[in-house]
Amino acid sequence: MGNRILGLHHITAIADNAKRNLDFYTKVLGVRLVKKTVNFDDPGTYHFYFGDERGTPGTILTFFPWEGMGPGRPGAGMATHIGYAVPQGTLGFWEQRLKDNGVQVERGEIFGERLLSFKDPDGLQLQLIEPSLVDSRKGWATQEVQEDNALKGFHNVTLTLLQADRTAKILTDILGYELQQQEGNRYRFATNAIDTANLLDIVEDKNAPRGHNAAGTNHHIAFRVKDDNILMEYREKVLSAGLQITPKIDRDYFYSLYFREPGGVLFEIATDNPGFTRDESLEELGSNLKLPKQYERMRSEIEKVLPGLS
Ligand code: ZN
Repeated sequence: MGNRILGLHHITAIADNAKRNLDFYTKVLGVRLVKKTVNFDDPGTYHFYFGDERGTPGTILTFFPWEGMGPGRPGAGMATHIGYAVPQGTLGFWEQRLKDNGVQVERGEIFGERLLSFKDPDGLQLQLIEPSLVDSRKGWATQEVQEDNALKGFHNVTLTLLQADRTAKILTDILGYELQQQEGNRYRFATNAIDTANLLDIVEDKNAPRGHNAAGTNHHIAFRVKDDNILMEYREKVLSAGLQITPKIDRDYFYSLYFREPGGVLFEIATDNPGFTRDESLEELGSNLKLPKQYERMRSEIEKVLPGLS
């Protein structure tokens, strides 16, 4: 069991204005900013990590806010919907809260689970879902969003694909997921290696327009493994399936591999080690601008070009 994929690790999306992104997630949705750093490939751009108290894998949504990027378009070949679990009986609270903040919400139901659909300020499609099985994770509490309403972390993610079968095969043959349910053109895959953030839906739509990657769209989704030894076992598995994959990359808070699955979505596999408390205490998480070693000597220049957040 210890060497399996443990559901989702994090999901990364693109935003435009940094302050608007930060305010929406930390104030309206009430998740915790657990790390404020920069894009390691583009240090003039922030990289925000939002999650629970300690940024537990399975709760982490991250953003590259590229100022002036302009809106993208979600579509085929992308993760198009991000589903968070919320406590049973809290959809009314969230519906009111989102409306009060000028967000349009729609009620819905998928596989018998009630949910709210809405978009973040850049158009990223989010869902708050009351899972049918109790989710015992503890959400981050703020003054306005107390623990009994708080987002618990991911429930599922939805990929929209022109064709499901080759991606499905990666999920089942390499990543250890099984087809759990089907409803029309929606296929739900689950892994029993963990009981939260363990669902992935594929919506197969031959007529879906191609997605365009810019603000309000997904950049990649990351699957979770325990450590970097297991990470390298998956590198071999992906290679032996005939796909290309990067070498191991040090992301400071986890180690990563990236590969493009046949449906077009960028997949990452990321480790639990070393975690976000590597360079900040639990209490301080997210309160300082943290730079990777190679940029520390450029700190003052970087701080000058990063956009204002207050
Ligand atoms: Zn990532």
